[in-house]
Amino acid sequence: MRCIECGKVHDMGRPVYACSSCGNLLEIRMDRAEALKRISKNDIKKRHVSVWKYREFIPISDKAKVYSLNEGGTQLLKCGRLAEELGLKNLYVKFDGTNPTGSFKDRGMTVGITKAKELGMKTVTCASTGNTSASLSAYAGLAGMRCVVLIPEGKVALGKLAQAMMHGATIVQVKGNFDQALEIVMKSSEKLGMYVLNSVNPFRIEGQKTAGFEVCDQLGGKSPDYLYIPVGNGGNSAAYWKGFEEYESLGLTDGLPMIRGIQAEGSAPVADMFKHGKKVLEPVKKPDTVATAIRIGNPANWKKTVKAIKDSGGSATTVSDPEILGAQKLLAKLEGIFAEPAGAAALAGLRKDVDSGSIDRTASIVCVSTGHGLKDPDIAVSQSARPRVIEPTIEALEELLEGR
Ligand SMILES: *Cc1c(COP(=O)(O)O)cnc(C)c1O
Ligand SMILES: [Zn+2]
Repeated sequence: MRCIECGKVHDMGRPVYACSSCGNLLEIRMDRAEALKRISKNDIKKRHVSVWKYREFIPISDKAKVYSLNEGGTQLLKCGRLAEELGLKNLYVKFDGTNPTGSFKDRGMTVGITKAKELGMKTVTCASTGNTSASLSAYAGLAGMRCVVLIPEGKVALGKLAQAMMHGATIVQVKGNFDQALEIVMKSSEKLGMYVLNSVNPFRIEGQKTAGFEVCDQLGGKSPDYLYIPVGNGGNSAAYWKGFEEYESLGLTDGLPMIRGIQAEGSAPVADMFKHGKKVLEPVKKPDTVATAIRIGNPANWKKTVKAIKDSGGSATTVSDPEILGAQKLLAKLEGIFAEPAGAAALAGLRKDVDSGSIDRTASIVCVSTGHGLKDPDIAVSQSARPRVIEPTIEALEELLEGR
């Protein structure tokens, strides 16, 4: 586990999230030759597809007890009707909303909780716009740990709040936004003896990188040409890239995708860096968007995601709230995929690129849909037509259907 800036190596046997010398993020680098040696002994292809299919690439000791809800192994759906609508040839959606708690966070949480137990921690914590707390509380319950989640008051989608409540977390509403909640978590965790499972925790990233492995396996050992992905704190986009990069370097897949990071207009500090060629992130003070999962003004992983996107030869851009909601409807109507707004942002970004002619229409493109639509029923209902009411007769039904 080493610092992304100064390279200082840190002990993985203690809870740390930042470099002790320079304060930057930490990342885990695996011994690739060792991993190859280990997988050559086992036929991993035969394993059931899930996060732990790739156990040899996950930095958890073989002896550790794994806490799993069988996360990962989500569908990569070929979207013919959507492709036709957009005038594309090879369009896929990686629907990570079908994870056990309805978002990709579960990929990171199974590894994070397993690590928390290995470290002997009793309490886990996170700041959350909703999905992290839903996921963490489920896994904490499974592992018999206390769970404390900090959420921005009044800004968490109903489904996500319901999950954290049912799983028995201690839920604390902060009179402020996500960025402020995360600051409290980071500054209090050591004193209060809590293990932090936000995406600043490098073990989260190690679980989430398996999504990159899966996409390559699902495409028959090839990477897509483009990966469209929403960017909030930037952990998932960095994790996907780490997955693609490791898999390619081990000779387990061909090629690497170009990453297109998508942010909502009202909270787009990473896209802003690309637009204006900035070297340092300028936080957005009052982030705002209908896609609450990416309503983040000061992304904790900005350095990791900017590096990942640049290394891939890609860039980041923005979409408006109406564009996000339009994409959410298209996914639902044409492909049967019900995503929460943030889970439709990638498609909204792709649609914009298609309209501006900046993408090769024959390329193979994967859009990551990060969370399930049932998470945020209020948004879905508010933008749909109300059901009609009739008298309980066949005539009334006929009248309605014929528009009389
Ligand atoms: C957490 C989350 C995101 C943002 O992911 P980051 O790793 O913070 O960039 C996007 N969509 C959904 C549904 C999420 O839950
Ligand atoms: Zn450092």
